[in-house]
Amino acid sequence: SNKGNALYQELNRALHSEGLQEDVQLVKTGCFGFCEKGPIIKILPDETFYVQVDPDDAKEIASEHLVKGRPVERLIYRGEDQSAERAEDLPFYRKQLRLVLRNCGVIDPDSIDEYIAREGYAALEKALFELGADRTIDELMKSGLRGRGGAGFLTAKKWLFTRKAESEEKYVVCNADEGDPGAYMDRSTLEGDPHSVLEAMTIAGYTVGAQRGYIYIRAEYPLAIERLQNAIEQARGYGLLGEDILGSGFGFDIEIRLGAGAFVCGEETALLASIEGRRGMPVPRPPFPAVKGLWGKPTVINNVETFANVPLILLRGGDWFSKIGTETSKGTKVFALTGKINNSGLIEVPMGTTLREIIYDIGGGIKDGRAFKAVQTGGPSGGVIPADHLDTPIDYENLQKLGSIMGSGGMIVMDEDDCMVSVAKFYLEFTVEESCGKCAPCRVGGRTLFNILDRITRGEGEMADLKKIRDLSQAMRRASLCGLGQTASNPVASILRHFEDELTAHIKKKK
Ligand code: SF4
Repeated sequence: SNKGNALYQELNRALHSEGLQEDVQLVKTGCFGFCEKGPIIKILPDETFYVQVDPDDAKEIASEHLVKGRPVERLIYRGEDQSAERAEDLPFYRKQLRLVLRNCGVIDPDSIDEYIAREGYAALEKALFELGADRTIDELMKSGLRGRGGAGFLTAKKWLFTRKAESEEKYVVCNADEGDPGAYMDRSTLEGDPHSVLEAMTIAGYTVGAQRGYIYIRAEYPLAIERLQNAIEQARGYGLLGEDILGSGFGFDIEIRLGAGAFVCGEETALLASIEGRRGMPVPRPPFPAVKGLWGKPTVINNVETFANVPLILLRGGDWFSKIGTETSKGTKVFALTGKINNSGLIEVPMGTTLREIIYDIGGGIKDGRAFKAVQTGGPSGGVIPADHLDTPIDYENLQKLGSIMGSGGMIVMDEDDCMVSVAKFYLEFTVEESCGKCAPCRVGGRTLFNILDRITRGEGEMADLKKIRDLSQAMRRASLCGLGQTASNPVASILRHFEDELTAHIKKKK
């Protein structure tokens, strides 16, 4: 952030004026996750956790803490009960398990050396020289890793399809076209640890026999793009990208492709069309990209978080990973926790963590002591989960049973004052605007559904509208061409399921 940059500059200045520039290393890291308390400074080895630091505080931190060894008490955060000695002991971090975010807030994302010092590129080396392609896929299969972009398909299976597809040319694509309102998981991962994604893409390339990779990222993420570009150049300089990687005879390189921010380009066939320079419009599947993707060639396409899991799985083993999480959903999940929550931020928890733990333990409860009403997961393709399901362990299947989805990990918390009909209307308006217009069920159905909801919120609805909503939602789900249209009615269906009384109250309040 601008404030973070200003703080960095002030700290640098303060270190110089105290003559500490040789003794104290000032490192700019990626996100600590605790957005609510930013900008954050961690002093090591003391483990002092300074929060909401202002650029004007830099001088005092340098002269008091770094010179005289007297920490600036008013800036230290020890949790609401003042008991945390270190950041890891804070309630916000205690129930988290940061695997994907392992390097975020720890290393300088612009330094390949710092990444390498934390086992960076060791998984690539292991895949190239120890495991080979088949055993790399075996480890991934054992891990049970499922795609974190939404659908939850087994990553190893995808890779296997592409490996088995006969072709001279194959591709690896990273989907970094994060577009859900309130979601910033991919952005933070790329800003904080770009090499983990490059390493995983190279491993994927080696495993499936691809020579080239593309990262499709939205142009609205300039810092992530800058850090990725820098990371790519550093990796090339270290022989970790390009021809004959580490003398293995395997060659692979990665390019960045910028998206213009169309939500539909997150849909994989539209994304591939956009990389090819065509208009980003979905096409029916099958064939799936794994066998016929970019320029008609077999293509592995995964999102940022899925890739970021891969190096650690190869280093620790598939069995290790599969012990984390639930029966059907392994590992952790990163969520962007926002809305009416005390500790908004980027969190990572083992699959199977309950919503109550996320909202009350990590999130610190609802703002201003109000009551929790619901949380929206899965963004515009998801739905709301009300208070009576707070103890449900979060995994792919449980969220689906409740009429929502995991999605990419946006989590927006609502309190007792929020109108659920307006929430559904907000998401529907978003998808209606983002529809590419190619097929009528989505183009016309979405608009009609929105108009009905709009009428209801204006007090002009009728009870017969409820049936219309149900029928239209079903038709859109069945007949739309791509995921955007098929899931666009989910937020409305979810309100009908959990908060029908609010819809009918609006109708009955009719003028
Ligand atoms: Fe376009 Fe919507 Fe049809 Fe998808 S469902 S192809 S976004 S009109």
